[in-house]
Amino acid sequence: YNIPELRRLDVEHHLPAQANYAELQRIGGSRIITRAEGSTIYDGEGNAILDGMAGLWCVNVGYGREELVRAAAEQMQELPFYNTFFKTATPPTVMLAAKLAEKLGGKLQHVFFNASGSEANDTVMRLVRYYWSLKGEPKRTVFISRRNAYHGSTMAGASLGGMAHMHPIGGLPIPGIEHVAQPYKFNEGFNEDEEAFGARVAQEIEDRIIKVGPENVAAFIGEVVQGAGGVIIPPKGYWKRVEAICEKYGILLVVDEVITGFGRLGEWFGFQHFGVTPDLVPMAKGLSSGYLPISAVGVSSDIVKVLRDGNGEFAHGYTYSGHPVAAAVALKNIEIIEREGLVERVKNDAGPYFAEALKRLEGDPLVGEVRSLGLIGAVEIVAKKGTNERFTGKEGKAGPIVRDTCIKNGLMVRGIRDSVVMCPPLIITHAEIDRMIDIIGRSLREAEPALRA
Ligand code: PLP
Repeated sequence: YNIPELRRLDVEHHLPAQANYAELQRIGGSRIITRAEGSTIYDGEGNAILDGMAGLWCVNVGYGREELVRAAAEQMQELPFYNTFFKTATPPTVMLAAKLAEKLGGKLQHVFFNASGSEANDTVMRLVRYYWSLKGEPKRTVFISRRNAYHGSTMAGASLGGMAHMHPIGGLPIPGIEHVAQPYKFNEGFNEDEEAFGARVAQEIEDRIIKVGPENVAAFIGEVVQGAGGVIIPPKGYWKRVEAICEKYGILLVVDEVITGFGRLGEWFGFQHFGVTPDLVPMAKGLSSGYLPISAVGVSSDIVKVLRDGNGEFAHGYTYSGHPVAAAVALKNIEIIEREGLVERVKNDAGPYFAEALKRLEGDPLVGEVRSLGLIGAVEIVAKKGTNERFTGKEGKAGPIVRDTCIKNGLMVRGIRDSVVMCPPLIITHAEIDRMIDIIGRSLREAEPALRA
């Protein structure tokens, strides 16, 4: 490739996602990633970078999987596209729905397909409101979500999301969404007992339901572990309390598994780790390991019974709902996860190894906390050891500063406010985990003068 030319074209013509276009122009365009293998990506300048983010929380089986290439090619040859609008379906789509029902288990026996996580959450919103109208409770329209949540970038997804900086763009949130506290103990409950903190933030959900009026509340939605918010692992007891509150008021429980599905937390789905039973489960990313865009919403039999009894049309769906090529790739991806025992690997081997390795950073003077669950984790950066104080004048900036140093040192991580977060492929080796932690340690030391300046 002619990399300087590609970077020039990037500035001239391409508007990348979630970007500051002035900054991209200043730095002369995006880094061009040209190829990848296993857990390593390569840029056009010939740098090898360990991918501590599995792309964008999604390349669960790692890069370079010939089987996925073949599955796509064969399906493209056989039938590259057909829709699901005309009382039609394709073999991979139906087989994938059945496979997902098997993995979801219990009452989650039905699946609606979309192309992205954002679309999955739009589907959730419309499906839930349709359900309540069919049930004869059309006033139940309000969604309760959490501050700093991420549920996508469409108008509904970004509204359900609780990222304040996203809301002014497009005049969000759309009506009918209430945001309550997030279970972010390090920031919002530093000196509290873990269970007491979990109980307090869960209680805020119940308080809001009462304030809004339970008869108006349709659903609660939450990521099992908040990803883009900074890998926020909820405290003990939190999810069980949330589930009990939803049950008490007859509110649907939506668990966003877009990041946590497909082995990330050492179970097929994160809700299985926390022992709760959602009514709806949006998923994407790891469903195809990012090889093709596909997402799904797992839906309970109780909801589908109401849809069937209503005998009306759910007037919602996308051209690419159930895309056969994406579905064929997702099926093969799940087969790989099963055959290689990657879910068990995260639970019994790679996850515990990662947690141990992270502990090596605890002694660093800039590290306030390390935390992980399965193969997702975060390092909190603080100005003063033993506190959660951030660098004055640089609040919210330490993460990106350390991230940039990590990338320079050959590791892709994400800097989220004052933390760096990791979400590597599920196939990452022990040696690569060690390298990831070593690079973060070295980068913290290198970045310290800039942080203290
Ligand atoms: N939900 C969660 C929890 C996510 O992390 C994301 C994306 O990062 C989404 C939804 C949106 O998915 P997509 O970017 O595929 O639209």
